[in-house]
Amino acid sequence: MSSQSATVPCQYRTGRTLGSGTYAIVKEAIHIKTGKYYACKVINKKLMEGREHMVRNEIAVLKRISSGHPNIVTLHDYFETSHNLYLCFDLCTGGELFDSICARGQYTEADAAGLVRTIFQAVKYIHDCGIVHRDLKPENLLFRSKPEKTSEIMIADFGLSRVMEENKLSMLKEVCGTPGYMAPEIFKKTGHGKPVDVWAMGVITYFLLAGYTPFDRDTQRQEMEAIIAGDYKFEPDEYWSLVSDTARDFVATCLTTDPDKRPTAAQMLEHPWLASEIPHFVENETGEPRDLLPHVRKAFDAKKTFRKAVFGMMAMKRMSTLAHHMSPEAHKLNEDLYQFKQESEKEKFEDIRVVHHHNADEEQSLKSQDDISIAKGPNGKVSYGTDVSEKLAAVSLAVKSGSNPKSV
Ligand code: ADP
Ligand code: MG
Repeated sequence: MSSQSATVPCQYRTGRTLGSGTYAIVKEAIHIKTGKYYACKVINKKLMEGREHMVRNEIAVLKRISSGHPNIVTLHDYFETSHNLYLCFDLCTGGELFDSICARGQYTEADAAGLVRTIFQAVKYIHDCGIVHRDLKPENLLFRSKPEKTSEIMIADFGLSRVMEENKLSMLKEVCGTPGYMAPEIFKKTGHGKPVDVWAMGVITYFLLAGYTPFDRDTQRQEMEAIIAGDYKFEPDEYWSLVSDTARDFVATCLTTDPDKRPTAAQMLEHPWLASEIPHFVENETGEPRDLLPHVRKAFDAKKTFRKAVFGMMAMKRMSTLAHHMSPEAHKLNEDLYQFKQESEKEKFEDIRVVHHHNADEEQSLKSQDDISIAKGPNGKVSYGTDVSEKLAAVSLAVKSGSNPKSV
């Protein structure tokens, strides 16, 4: 912190830890002056190494875009130390998508379609802004508050995935054990554009209808091979006989292996499963829509118990020794990530001194509006002129990462 000039005490207190994701720890942050609660995502700068110049620009974009849609958590504030970036988002108190579904009394195909429609509308908005989410999965979908309303399902993890190198993010997903939502073209290294989000939505929809994912296999290698081959089935029948053909067609359309042939988010919103006024469902004995909950819950609970046991925070270390298939690079990343998360977990916001680039950023982002048409051009496209990137690079992070992330 010696090279640091304008540090100020952090304006937040630490609350409980909310979760641990692909590359960050998320903790409750209580704004000391107002007493308001936020969800603060702590990201180690080392994960952004070599891309520091992109970070602040990206944060400015995120801030603007995240406040423009009701189903995307708003980024309110951010600050940094020499080791970490801190992003303060709206706190969602309604819990993760699946936990909340499992806690319901009943859950039909129409409920699933309602959720998928809302999420897809937010995905379309992100895409219209020229951004690819790249990490859509149920753990990143949270309800804003309780009681959970379909209209309040939020894309919570609208992070810095775009700043991260493609390889690093893929590796992160592998070491975190969540490659199941990755599109074939990511493994084939032939693309990572908007179609990857439509694919992930296909996997999420499958999961919402059955309680398990389509490419679930014994090993990650088999899972990856199945994804590349588009090898999945609507089986067992015990589960899928409860689901309409239209829903299956919807999933199959999202899971088009060729990204060039895969429909866009806008096109998927016009699929009959989401667009037709009359909900699609399989009738039960009395002509009512089938309740999917008993099956979905059964499958989900089994997987969750497994996930908790294997991928718990403290099990990550153990997992790394089990993961013989990992490249030395992935192994190192896994070890680093474990260390980063442990450090973030222990750290108290009230003990740190931070740099706020808030104002500088606002100015910069206002100034750049002419250069960067952020969600405002006639086509709503975000595009960065090279000169803008250079300008922003010149205003590079006050503290370069590269320091050892110890002694937080
Ligand atoms: P990562 O990008 O590392 O995957 P996430 O943003 O997904 O991190 O956050 C990890 C976990 O933290 C989520 O699965 C969720 O349980 C919790 N979380 C994230 N954002 C919020 C929020 N805004 N409100 C409440 N909990 C959150
Ligand atoms: Mg996440």
